[in-house]
Amino acid sequence: MIQDIYPHKLDIEYKSGLSPMAGDYLVRFEGMKFLCRRDEGDSVVLPQYSDLPENNGFESIYLFELDGKRMFLLMGEGQVEVDGFGYENINLFRNARPKELLFAVSTAFHLHIWHRDNIYCGRCGSKTVHDEKERMMRCPVCGNTIYPRIMPSVIVGVVNGDSILLTRYNRPGSRLAALVAGFCEIGETGEETVKREVLEETGLTGKNIRYFKSQPWGITAGGLLLGYWCEVDGDDTIRVDGEEIAEGVWMKREDLTEYMEEKEYATLTSEMISIFARNIYR
Ligand SMILES: [Zn+2]
Repeated sequence: MIQDIYPHKLDIEYKSGLSPMAGDYLVRFEGMKFLCRRDEGDSVVLPQYSDLPENNGFESIYLFELDGKRMFLLMGEGQVEVDGFGYENINLFRNARPKELLFAVSTAFHLHIWHRDNIYCGRCGSKTVHDEKERMMRCPVCGNTIYPRIMPSVIVGVVNGDSILLTRYNRPGSRLAALVAGFCEIGETGEETVKREVLEETGLTGKNIRYFKSQPWGITAGGLLLGYWCEVDGDDTIRVDGEEIAEGVWMKREDLTEYMEEKEYATLTSEMISIFARNIYR
């Protein structure tokens, strides 16, 4: 999946008081696009600090290190133009290369939104400052502390014998290639979210809920996807809500031919469908 970048390493430890230097990577977002260049073999290259004009007036915030190379987020209003670089959609991270760099960019997007939305204290309205010791914004007036927002949600493989439930979102261009999914609500366990989302989206009752694995999803500005399996309990008639979900189908294992290949899948959803298709699901 996108986060499986070993032997590369994203060192997320926060370090204070750092300023960018010539060879450091810069990450700059404009909406859902980021500043980069496509090189030979279609690989993505990020600008370095030395590519930026001097006295540019933008603020640089230390993010993390990728394989020992420091990355900084470029914040502030206005257009950033760097010779030879343009803006590409962040969704490139799903299959472009190098994978470790694009995973770092999707994680940078999470922090970009956090910084952008927490310039002022939500309690008293004063300007916040970055804490010196950890990744946290602090209000110097009222003492409010603001950590990066992480929002857990579930992805559910609902199994019915030799079939798995695939859904299609109710939006243009959506394929029948999604699993039941939704955000955890307040006061809910992950397992309770699974039961509720399965019922809300498909009208089915889930049983034997089992945790599978998780995936950080920075492009929703704080997503943490928790993958679960469950089995249908009783009536297996699918009744989609028609609003969020347009279609739900029991897909037989032998009809999942495009997922039969043993390869690395970018997303938790596609990995789970593939695991079911290859009959190695437990
Ligand atoms: Zn405050």
